[in-house]
Amino acid sequence: MKAAMILEGNRLEIQDVPKPVPAFEEALVKIITAGVCHSDVHLVKGDWPRFIRSFPTPVGHEGIGIIEALGPGADKYFQIGDRVILGLGGAGGAYWCGACEFCLSGRPRLCRQAKGVRGVYAEYVSLWAKALVKLPEAVSNEEVSLACGGLTSYSAVKKFLKFGVVPGKPIAIVGAAGGLGHYAVQSAKAFGFKVLGVDVGQDKIDFIKNHLGADYAVDAADARRFVKEELAGGVYGSVVFTPKIAGFALGLKLMRQGGIFVSVGMPAESEGGIEINPLELLSRDPIIMSSAVGTVEEMRELVQLCADGKVKSHISRRAPLSQLQNVLDELERAAYPGRAILNDMAN
Ligand SMILES: [Zn+2]
Ligand SMILES: [Zn+2]
Repeated sequence: MKAAMILEGNRLEIQDVPKPVPAFEEALVKIITAGVCHSDVHLVKGDWPRFIRSFPTPVGHEGIGIIEALGPGADKYFQIGDRVILGLGGAGGAYWCGACEFCLSGRPRLCRQAKGVRGVYAEYVSLWAKALVKLPEAVSNEEVSLACGGLTSYSAVKKFLKFGVVPGKPIAIVGAAGGLGHYAVQSAKAFGFKVLGVDVGQDKIDFIKNHLGADYAVDAADARRFVKEELAGGVYGSVVFTPKIAGFALGLKLMRQGGIFVSVGMPAESEGGIEINPLELLSRDPIIMSSAVGTVEEMRELVQLCADGKVKSHISRRAPLSQLQNVLDELERAAYPGRAILNDMAN
């Protein structure tokens, strides 16, 4: 079967590799669509060396497909022919132990045995069945980016509720027009927050206002003035999706005292860190946290929101597997809002 592999020297190649055989409790999924996530741009370019231990390595972690075969024990969870979404729900999304303190407290991402999904840019992938979520008919194959982009955004925005920001309060989404941000705006609206979308450039501001239903949309250059004058000094929480460190500084500055800061974007390591002066920390007392992907249960909640029409993927680009490198180049240039997907894995 065909599969995209990252080779040493930051190169991507479509190779012919053996079709996987499902092991204990695994399901073999024939991929129909695969979402192209911005994190793959970083992986292929070598921006995140800590995540690649050996070459060649498979790549891709957002998929929708049909279960074609079940390994021993997997028939407890699925039937052959089920249509499923697979991606980064749960821990890294491929396996978590379910028995350690983190798994049992609902944070499987921190499980020591967690294994991530890699290798969805292929005709087939075999995965632990418990990491898959069955799709209702109302969710189309084009909604594939819910598997990482959608879930990551949903789980990040849900943290505002968890940490006491009640519906009706204003919150900011920095990088609101992007592949993650556009889901976050819709999820935040579904939770009932007043949403301020921040991005750069008039076309993106128009997209946030006209297509995503944000209450307010402003350019990053104008955001501090806007919250000061229009939102009584600051928002109750910021979630930052931009891969640029400047977006993190802005997200902190937009918050009033005691705000909830959720970091999601992953800048290149060479961009350095976030700075906050301890005295500013004392006077403004924010709660600062990171959010990455989400749980399988959150994936089910998000699939339901999508089936109800409250969250929808905005797809700007569709391509066959052979054009993956071009799509990655376009994402790096932020050539369009929303997501890109592969919809033909055999070509
Ligand atoms: Zn991703
Ligand atoms: Zn565990």
